[in-house]
Amino acid sequence: MEFFDSLICELSDLISEYQKANYPCSEKNQWTDVGYSQVILQRDTAFELDGVGFNLVTSSDVEDGIVVVGDELCSITADRKFARVCLVQLEDSDNEQDCYKTIKKVDYVKYHFFPEGYMIRTTSRSHKESVRVAKSALKKGISFEKAGNLLISKYKENPKVKAVKVIFVTASGADYKKLEAMAQKSGSIAETLNHIMNNVKFDCDTCNLKPVCDEVEGMKELHFKNASMGV
Ligand code: SF4
Repeated sequence: MEFFDSLICELSDLISEYQKANYPCSEKNQWTDVGYSQVILQRDTAFELDGVGFNLVTSSDVEDGIVVVGDELCSITADRKFARVCLVQLEDSDNEQDCYKTIKKVDYVKYHFFPEGYMIRTTSRSHKESVRVAKSALKKGISFEKAGNLLISKYKENPKVKAVKVIFVTASGADYKKLEAMAQKSGSIAETLNHIMNNVKFDCDTCNLKPVCDEVEGMKELHFKNASMGV
């Protein structure tokens, strides 16, 4: 599964110039999961983070861990832009239908992630993600490191997930426009995969997804293979 690998390289270039904190993955250092969607009122909110959240899936090696590009939660005092990107390494497989199903399942992990005092608002149709952080959670010591460890444990409930790196970006000078463009592009690749895996019709001349297939290596071959198998 290499369709998202060029975006992983782009992301690596984008954050290379910033100071980062790297944390190893640790089950013992997870923030509490309340198990349900919380409502944090404005008066109880320390600040809001607003930006994008998306996954980049690969079968190449990923090292488990959390990376914070910019400030940790304890150093943030006012609303700001942010991004969350998860690099997710899946078990290597020749079965594209299986891989595709796993990618979809991995995409739903964000709806089962309920860190205490960390209210996430996101939609299935976009990569927008905003987070309200409660004053009480900050007092208790919430951090990206701990919330990231919790998120990794959620991904790893799926045995096909081998490793996860969670990258939180809060640096004030980061290129959030580019991060949004990357989120959109990952969404277009996922949409094209969806079309390929569910549509036997192989007609590039009339297909509105052609720009994605022209750019991402292997897409056309995958559709051709699926179409010839009559999937
Ligand atoms: S391979 Fe052709 S028909 Fe299939 S999704 Fe891409 S552009 Fe469309």
